[in-house]
Amino acid sequence: MALDRELFESLCIRAREAMLLHSAADALEWDERTGMPIAAGPYRAQQVSTLRAKVHRIRTDARYGEDVQRLMETAGDEDPHGDVGATVRELHRDWNRDRKLPETLVEQTAQATVRGQQAWDAARKADDFGMFRDTLHTVLQLKREAGERLSEDTDQTVYEALLDEYEPGAKVDEIQRVFDEVRTPLVDLISQIKNAPRQPDTEAIERTFNIDRQRDFSHHVAEAIGFDFDRGRLDVTSHPFCTTLGPDDCRILTRYDPHWLPSGLFGTLHEAGHGMYEQGLRGGEWFGLPPGSYVSLGIHESQSRLWENQVGRSRAFWDWLFPQTQQAFSPELDHVSLDTFHFAVNAVRPSLIRVEADEATYNLHILIRFDLERRLIEGTLSVDELPSAWNERYESDLGVRPDSDADGVLQDVHWSAGLFGYFPTYTLGNLAAAQLFKAASDHIGDLEPMFARGEFRPLLDWLRERIHYFGRCYSGPQLVGQATGSPLSADHLVTYLRSKLEPLYGISPA
Ligand code: ZN
Repeated sequence: MALDRELFESLCIRAREAMLLHSAADALEWDERTGMPIAAGPYRAQQVSTLRAKVHRIRTDARYGEDVQRLMETAGDEDPHGDVGATVRELHRDWNRDRKLPETLVEQTAQATVRGQQAWDAARKADDFGMFRDTLHTVLQLKREAGERLSEDTDQTVYEALLDEYEPGAKVDEIQRVFDEVRTPLVDLISQIKNAPRQPDTEAIERTFNIDRQRDFSHHVAEAIGFDFDRGRLDVTSHPFCTTLGPDDCRILTRYDPHWLPSGLFGTLHEAGHGMYEQGLRGGEWFGLPPGSYVSLGIHESQSRLWENQVGRSRAFWDWLFPQTQQAFSPELDHVSLDTFHFAVNAVRPSLIRVEADEATYNLHILIRFDLERRLIEGTLSVDELPSAWNERYESDLGVRPDSDADGVLQDVHWSAGLFGYFPTYTLGNLAAAQLFKAASDHIGDLEPMFARGEFRPLLDWLRERIHYFGRCYSGPQLVGQATGSPLSADHLVTYLRSKLEPLYGISPA
């Protein structure tokens, strides 16, 4: 039986209408996190939750459900990875998840998470987990209920059903296997680095850097690597992120620290990487539909980490950018050498804050969160036990113990926003970034001389053609497999880190 084209078009129209409302809610959330007056919070929570509920209603009404099922039954003749076939498959997948969540739960969750983020922000500023405890408890209960409902009629655990929203089809056992593969070599490398003959001097990047100049410079760097400012903008927030409000409207947000130059600079490279993925997705009729949507958060993160790290912390990148950096931050960097600067931005030091962690220790921060959030969802760890469990894990895994909640359990916005199952996608992204970058270097040829000339287009085009263009037509693991010729593995990240860090630190190769 051939696909009913008229029905397909009618379903797309309804999916686009849902997307219009969805992106309107995203715009309100962007505003909330960039400049909304604090007193506007309660009304904003109502606005956002009303829109989210309306979206949910469109995507779950009885007629929509019947139509998406009918299309799914007749989609057999379509190429499953073509635009039409993939649209039917993925809209059916989304519907099959959405329909399990009652509207009241969606609305309650939307309100609780807006309030949760406000409570988190206040608690973090006051350095007081107690102020956040009750809202976190509420959000956790709601997410657990969602996970229980979503896991019905599947082979997923409650946690996997939540994870599935960010990393479709991912299994905890598989993630655990790859994480175990990466943990031991990273711990070895970090301990070798601790005892290495050479150590970086980071004093030069800890001087006082004017915020306005940092802002101008970040804008310049984002534009140079390929973020399109005719179709996007860069703003300031307390917790950097990237959001797309329309086919030609991508917003990236960063934060600047007057005493830590890498914060704003690498934060911007990171978010610009996310933004360039969003800008590389197909717009027009496919905007907001599966062919024009990002495939998974792991793939999203692979794009941000690739630009932040494989590109932004490479020697060739600084061969190009360092003279301009010195010019932008004179006299602060006048007598600093390129060698000193490059080693400083690649310093490996176990620390408390994930978003400021170096590439080697970063994944240990994620592994801690992956374990703790699974226990929270499973109910084997209570909200009250969380701060001390957090501190103990930091001490045992990273050798540092937070002396405040703000630098400990309150540092990330995720749980306040109900994002359980989100953290592992960061490490999946790091692994994919290293693997994709290696494949791009093999295909395009030596990227270093290009970076040294400030040429990033060939790399961006390679990613556009193999990852961005396909949207959700293939799964994340399929895209990585096709682009690199092998399934996701931990080896590429370890090889990449060793080949960069061993010479810097004067470690003899293992
Ligand atoms: Zn990111």
